[in-house]
Amino acid sequence: MDCQNCGAPLNWDGSRPIIICDFCSSIRVIEAADGSADRVAELDQPGDSACPRCQEPLTVAAMDGVKVEHCRQCRGILIEGDLFASVVRNRRTNFRGAESRPVPLDAEQFKVVVPCPSCHRRMEVHPYYGPGNVVIDSCSDCRLVWLDSGEMAKIEIAPGSR
Ligand SMILES: [Zn+2]
Ligand SMILES: [Zn+2]
Ligand SMILES: [Zn+2]
Repeated sequence: MDCQNCGAPLNWDGSRPIIICDFCSSIRVIEAADGSADRVAELDQPGDSACPRCQEPLTVAAMDGVKVEHCRQCRGILIEGDLFASVVRNRRTNFRGAESRPVPLDAEQFKVVVPCPSCHRRMEVHPYYGPGNVVIDSCSDCRLVWLDSGEMAKIEIAPGSR
């Protein structure tokens, strides 16, 4: 990822939702691309892990200014557990629209094994927010959450407390 003004390499540390070029001090605001279901902003910066679904190297991305890793192929998201909780809280609080209706849990979703991208052990599968609406994978040892494409959007509109 290079500075659009001077071409110097940019590196985002995740501390703020902007990147300031070390060389020319120009500011780049990190915004999600239109059409991203989960409102993820792709940054052209390699992540630390590989996608647990398709084994592609993950890239650094931002979700509401929070640093995540993102798969360009399947659009899954790897996020630290505490950051996930804060993004969920903010998005659900700010959501203005019709909530989705609860749907019965799809038992098939519990059979799919997702290896943790960090420790490679099997992630825990559990329902999240609104009975049966979303099933997510997490690793309690690494404090990581894996979200398949569209799951963040579903969590936002799921019924339940806000
Ligand atoms: Zn620059
Ligand atoms: Zn993937
Ligand atoms: Zn793990």
